[in-house]
Amino acid sequence: MNIGTLTFETFLEKSAEFHGENTPGVVIGGYMVALAQSLLPERGEYAALVETPKGLADAVQLLTPCTVGNGGLKVVNLGKYALSLYDRETGEGVRVRIDTDRLEAWEEIRGWLFQTTEASRRDRDALLLEICRAGTSVLGSETVRVEERFLKKSPIASVSICAVCKEAYPGADGGICRGCRRDTPYASVTSPREDTASGPSLTAVAVEDAVGRKALHDMTRIEPGVSKGPEFTSGQEFSAGDICRLQKMGRNTIFVEDGDDPDWVHENDAVKGFAAGLAGEGITFDDNPEEGKITFTADRDGLFVLDSERLETFNLYPDVMCATRHNHTVVEKGRPVGGSRAIPLHISRERYEGAMGALEEGPVFRILPMRKARVGILVTGTEVFKGLIKDRFIPIVRGKVEKLGCTVVKTAVTPDDTAMITKSVNELMDAGADLVVTTAGLSVDPDDVTRAGLVDAGLTDAVYGAPLLPGTMTLLGRIGSVQVMGVPACALFFKTTSFDLLLPRLLAGLSIRKIDLAAMGEGGFCLNCRSCTYPKCPFGK
Ligand code: ZN
Repeated sequence: MNIGTLTFETFLEKSAEFHGENTPGVVIGGYMVALAQSLLPERGEYAALVETPKGLADAVQLLTPCTVGNGGLKVVNLGKYALSLYDRETGEGVRVRIDTDRLEAWEEIRGWLFQTTEASRRDRDALLLEICRAGTSVLGSETVRVEERFLKKSPIASVSICAVCKEAYPGADGGICRGCRRDTPYASVTSPREDTASGPSLTAVAVEDAVGRKALHDMTRIEPGVSKGPEFTSGQEFSAGDICRLQKMGRNTIFVEDGDDPDWVHENDAVKGFAAGLAGEGITFDDNPEEGKITFTADRDGLFVLDSERLETFNLYPDVMCATRHNHTVVEKGRPVGGSRAIPLHISRERYEGAMGALEEGPVFRILPMRKARVGILVTGTEVFKGLIKDRFIPIVRGKVEKLGCTVVKTAVTPDDTAMITKSVNELMDAGADLVVTTAGLSVDPDDVTRAGLVDAGLTDAVYGAPLLPGTMTLLGRIGSVQVMGVPACALFFKTTSFDLLLPRLLAGLSIRKIDLAAMGEGGFCLNCRSCTYPKCPFGK
C-alpha cells in the first residue's frame, strides 16, 4: 500500500536515507501521517503531535514540513503509537492511532506492538512487509482539539519569572512555572540559595518609650482556655495607660510603625487585596482584618462552589494562604466558608503582586443560589401500582426536596411498562414539573424499564452510574429544560445517598458530566453510621 503519494519502496529509501534504518515505528508512522493528511481539510498551516518518541516523529519530519526545530512538531510521551495533525491556529485536527481491534489478522504487527515476539526472533522484513500490506487498515482515527498551549505562539510570547523558583518560564503557563506545580520531575530539590527576604527594617523600642507610637500588628494576650480578641489592634496609638498592660502581657520591647516602605506590604493591606480577589458572588467579608486574617461569610443560602485547582495555585505562592470549606457544601446565609491571610507580618510587594496575579482570572469561590424547583415524582413498579406493596419513595423524596425549599407539583405511580412510564413523565411535565425524580427500576433486571420510558419521553445528556455508595445506580439527564434524576432503590434503606449529594448541585444549575461524577469517588463511601449526622460527616467530601 502506498504511503500518501509515495510508493512503499520510495518511502523506505527516503526513510533509510533520513536516519539510517527502517524501524517498524517509522513505517507505521508513515501510514499514520498519510491517513491524518487525507482526513484533514486542505487549509491552514498544520502542526503535529506525536505520543511516543519512537519512530513517529521521524515519519512526521519525513512527510510533512513539521519539525521540532520549527515548532511544528511536539512530542508528548504518552507511550502510545498515536499522532495528531492539527490546525496551528485553532487546534482542530485529527488523531490517528493503532486500533487494537483490527490487529486480529496481523500476527507480526501484534507480536511487535505487544512485545510478545522476542526481539532476537523477530523477522524485520516480514514485519515491514506486513505493515505495508496492512497499510491504514489497522489504524483508527478521531477528531480532536489540542490544548491551547500547543497552538502557534505569537512571536512576542512573554517570558515571566516564576513566583516560587524565580526562574524564567513561558508566561502563558500562568503565574507559577509548570515545574513548581504538579508537573515537577524531581522528588526533592536541595538548593544552596537562601531565602533572605525577611521584611522591612523595623524599629524596636522599649515599652516605656512606646507612648504616642503606633502598634505594628494586632497583639493578643494569651491566656490558656480563655479566648478573646486582640488587646491592641494594628495601627492603634499607645497611651500612657497602655504601658502597664503591655508589661503585664510580658512585653519589654515592641515594634512600632516607622513610616511606609514601598517594597513591603503590611499583612492587613495584603489580605484586603486577596479577599477582594478570592471572593465571588454571594460571599461577604469584613474589610477590617482581625489579627491579619479575613473571614469569608455566605451572603445568601446556597451551594459553596470552589475552583479547587486555582485555590491550590494561589496557595503555592509564597507567604500567602487561603483555607475554605469543601467544594459543593450547602451553606446557610451568615455561615463562614473560609479565611485568608498573608503569612508574615510584611510580604514583599513582588510576592504580593504575584499572588494577586493568580486572582486576575476572577474569583476562586462563590455561593450559587439553589432554585426552588417544581418537582414531579414518578414511582415505577408493578407491585406498588397494584397496591401489593405500599409506596415509601414519595414521602422520602418529598421530605428531601421540601427541605431545600422545593415544592412537589405532582406524583405518579406506574407499572413497569415503557409506554405508561413515558405517559406519566409527560403528565408530570404538563403539571409544571421542572425536575422529575424517578424512583427504582434502574437496575439490571429486565423488568426495569424506567430508563427506556424516560428515553421515549425525550431523555438526553444521560449519565448513568456514579462512584457513590450507596447510590451507584443513579441516572442524570434532561428532557428539554426539565432536569431528570433517577434515584436508586437504596434511597429506601439508607438515610443518606447519592440523591442528597447531587440534588443541591442540580438545584444550583451546575452541569454534572461523567467526569464530575468520577471525581466524587474519593469521599463517596458512606460509613452508614447507626445515627446519621450527614452533612456533618465525610460522605461526599
Ligand atoms: Zn517555578
